[in-house]
Amino acid sequence: MADDYYTLLGVAKSASADELKKAYRKKAMEFHPDRNPGNKEAEEKFKKVSRAYEVLGDEAKRRLYDQHGEAAFDPNMGGGARGPAGGGFRGADPRDIFEQMFGGGGFGGFGGASESQDDAGEDLRVDLKVTLGEAAEGVERKIPYRKHVACAKCAGSGAEPGSKKSRCPTCGGQGQVVRSNGFFQMRQTCPSCGGQGERIDKPCKPCSGEGRTVAESTVSLRIPPGVDTGTKLRSSGNGSAGRRGSPAGDLYVYITVLEHELFERDGDDLACSVPVKFSVAALGGKIVVPKLKGKTNLNIPAGTQGGTIFRLRGEGMPPLRGSTAGDLLVRVDIDVPKKMTDKEKEALKAYAAACGDEAAPVSESWRSKFKKFFP
Ligand SMILES: [Zn+2]
Ligand SMILES: [Zn+2]
Repeated sequence: MADDYYTLLGVAKSASADELKKAYRKKAMEFHPDRNPGNKEAEEKFKKVSRAYEVLGDEAKRRLYDQHGEAAFDPNMGGGARGPAGGGFRGADPRDIFEQMFGGGGFGGFGGASESQDDAGEDLRVDLKVTLGEAAEGVERKIPYRKHVACAKCAGSGAEPGSKKSRCPTCGGQGQVVRSNGFFQMRQTCPSCGGQGERIDKPCKPCSGEGRTVAESTVSLRIPPGVDTGTKLRSSGNGSAGRRGSPAGDLYVYITVLEHELFERDGDDLACSVPVKFSVAALGGKIVVPKLKGKTNLNIPAGTQGGTIFRLRGEGMPPLRGSTAGDLLVRVDIDVPKKMTDKEKEALKAYAAACGDEAAPVSESWRSKFKKFFP
């Protein structure tokens, strides 16, 4: 009796296609002849698991196998699934099955690195400082920076104008070579042509055949309203030019919002403190409050305490995303005069006498709390 295919792969009969594939990959890696040179036992196992996967990995074949077992595919047993003229899987090289599935560099994702062919331009970063006002309203900025640009002489081709290109002899035009490193096979960008598949007979001098040179550049960028420190804006395609006409990278603009003398920012909310005279806070009245643009009057009620916060809805920062602007939080600071005229002093003394302040310098409610803790 032949080995059960599911047992060979170490999966349950109910295994999904994905589970089967993973199981096969694992087993095939383990027993692959490249990793077990001269090991007959491993080779035999490799053949068996490959055969098992060839059947179970194919939905129709798997169904037949589930019904009839291996006999469904055995020429000597008269099974139904064999192709004509002996084209059954027994003739198939198990290595082919493996390579078909995972590519020539089947071990690439396992051990070695599958280096991607990458001639694309690099992403670049620039840092940009804006004022709080600019952050609130948005601003158009011209940003100078250095980047690779397409070589003017060869228009990015990397070849001396008028010279020829021929197929790269190292990779035969594939742009990739397969390299063996011990047991591992790796697909690599062709070192001769850098993945282009072409050989430049006469490299362009100014760019040394890269098709790009470094130059000062500027980009005009619209900074949207609502940006904050840490906001990252992407300017697509404005990074470095790719080698020999490959796509350019992106430019990332990192925003820093400068501190403001009056306003502090917390997300979309702004906060500022406004010094208010004691008499105004006590009697109530109108105070002038700064906004990002201009100013506004705020009525404060009589008896406003120091530290009271008034919220002006929608007077904060505009949102970078979404639709609701933040608020402006105005904190009242009681402004105690440091210098007074004689007349002012007289008036204040008269007020203190009327209140009995000299006998009781702190308020009644505070005194009762104090007594609770320090009787
Ligand atoms: Zn050039
Ligand atoms: Zn090449």
